[in-house]
Amino acid sequence: MFRFSLLLAVTSMLSVGSCHAGAGKSDLGVQTLYYGGDIVTMEGDEPTYVEAVMQRDGRIIYVGPRASAVNNFAGETIEVDLQGKTLMPGFIEPHAHPVSIGAFILANDIVAPHEWRMPHKTYPGVSGKENYLKAVKAIIDSKKDKRQTVLIWGYHKSWHGELTLEDLDRVSGDVPTIIWQRSTHEIYLNTACAKKYGVRKGDLSKEDDEQADWENLHFWERAYQIVKGTKLAPFFGDRKMLQRGMDRISAVMQYNGITAMMEPGFPTSTFEDEYQVLRQGTEKARAYTIYLISGFPEQFVKKFSNDQYAAHIDALSKKYDTEYIKFLPRQYKTFADGAIYSLALQLREPFYNCRECRSEWIIPPKEGEAIFDYWWDKGYKIHIHITGDKAFETYLDIVERAMKRNPRKDHRTTFHHVGLFDGEQAQRAADLGIEISANPYYLWALANKYSKTGLGPERAANMVALQEFSKRGVPVSLHSDFAMAPADPLLLVWVASNRIIDDGRVMKPEERISVYDAMKGITITAARTFEMAHEIGSIKVGKQANFTILEQNPFKVDRSRIKDIPVLGIVYKGEMKLNGQRKVGGDRDEFGCIASAGYRWCDRTGQCERPWPLAKRKGFENTPEAFEAWCDNVRVRKKEPRPGNH
Ligand SMILES: [Zn+2]
Repeated sequence: MFRFSLLLAVTSMLSVGSCHAGAGKSDLGVQTLYYGGDIVTMEGDEPTYVEAVMQRDGRIIYVGPRASAVNNFAGETIEVDLQGKTLMPGFIEPHAHPVSIGAFILANDIVAPHEWRMPHKTYPGVSGKENYLKAVKAIIDSKKDKRQTVLIWGYHKSWHGELTLEDLDRVSGDVPTIIWQRSTHEIYLNTACAKKYGVRKGDLSKEDDEQADWENLHFWERAYQIVKGTKLAPFFGDRKMLQRGMDRISAVMQYNGITAMMEPGFPTSTFEDEYQVLRQGTEKARAYTIYLISGFPEQFVKKFSNDQYAAHIDALSKKYDTEYIKFLPRQYKTFADGAIYSLALQLREPFYNCRECRSEWIIPPKEGEAIFDYWWDKGYKIHIHITGDKAFETYLDIVERAMKRNPRKDHRTTFHHVGLFDGEQAQRAADLGIEISANPYYLWALANKYSKTGLGPERAANMVALQEFSKRGVPVSLHSDFAMAPADPLLLVWVASNRIIDDGRVMKPEERISVYDAMKGITITAARTFEMAHEIGSIKVGKQANFTILEQNPFKVDRSRIKDIPVLGIVYKGEMKLNGQRKVGGDRDEFGCIASAGYRWCDRTGQCERPWPLAKRKGFENTPEAFEAWCDNVRVRKKEPRPGNH
């Protein structure tokens, strides 16, 4: 019988005790028992702790006192002593764009108002027009192949001034260049880029031309979606580039403890390209599940009728689901107003101190209501991108009319982002059974700037005032909409429960939500947002054995320190993957494996392994190369506490 205790001698962070072999019934399989730290289930209305949790074959099979676990389960038990660390349900990102936005940004370049820390690189924040153009020029000058298209994400006029075609041509010359606005709802092309991809006046319908400024090759909202999905599709569908970005996304996810992510509105450019990149990326990482919801813009770019598109959604799961990718049937994503990072949100009162600010509808209300009504009547769960208070009001009215016309119970229509709203609107949302998935990072990143331009001090202080929902019992999940915020769930919890902004001020502390509600927002309520709470989101028998292991317990540290809690690793479907350096000592190697006894670290199983028996069990050749390849050993560095401004 294998001594699993030895196999799992992992470091100073976590150690594994003895192995319980029940009556030699090893054919019953191997289970893992976690104990010895705070295990928070996220079931119920307050933090609930259990002594031990056990998993087998990727499912939670036991939650309760350690003694009963040890006595009641036959077979081999690997024991993982948490040594005082905290085990939580695996974090969930309920709204992000791993390929269509995330992989692009991570595979290309960033010049943005705030600093971005990624496992592969840190990009400093840049302010002022001159500094912005200088940074863009430095990136373009650094490229060896001048024919390759350069994409730089992060431009924002409030920080970087107006960007003209003349400015851009001056710093980019003949290198085809795409400036992707911070919101990813706008692009600016240089002349060389328009020429390369044949983007020219007359490409857009008269209506879509209203969201284009041809003089500056600037496209926003619907016009942007169309240019991106058609003429620029060869660039936005470059799989090699996307794959590079996807590998970085996988590293970011593990680094920040994310074991599941939902992308609404998949795909945003071409289905096959985005799907293949996701498929390769998830199969390589084997560390998280991606859930996908269809809708706008795909339906409109491809000009599917509603009935055609419904049939398309129905067929996806069967055709495309994998171990790590799940298409969600009977859900639909649609859009209301323009992006908050573009200051294009629909407001009830005029913009403050901003003559050039323009509200936009991505889908105008009349058309939006027809779309909403179709999916409502089909019984779908509808997700709506809403940023401004006027768009919020418009969709409250639309839901109210739909309820009167064709009442539905438990429809769970979910408003996503919700930059601005008030208590009265929150009450109407509660009364109508509407749920919320919010991006609290808007407050941190934008309140200071928008108090001077765009929203004014009062509305800026009121951004993402989530307590209005929490106190009325409306479920609230927290998302990054990556890359509208770093894909870092603890950072989102920190903003929502502190309301601290980028200059260190606290905005309307009465609108902070409790740490427990915020933590639910990245676990059980996040799962609820896309109807997967029966599978993931809490520690409960029958659910997937997905956990996030933290250095400290978020409920026991000062709430102002939550964003700095190091994520030590994750368990995904029963397999542990640790971040960072493993302690060297005695005859152990850097991963804590006893090399003299023939053990080596394996990322895939999350433990020290003896290559020979593993090769035999898993059917690969007994060579060091085959071992490394099967184990897919990737090193993820340990999370360092971030400075106070991030
Ligand atoms: Zn989004």
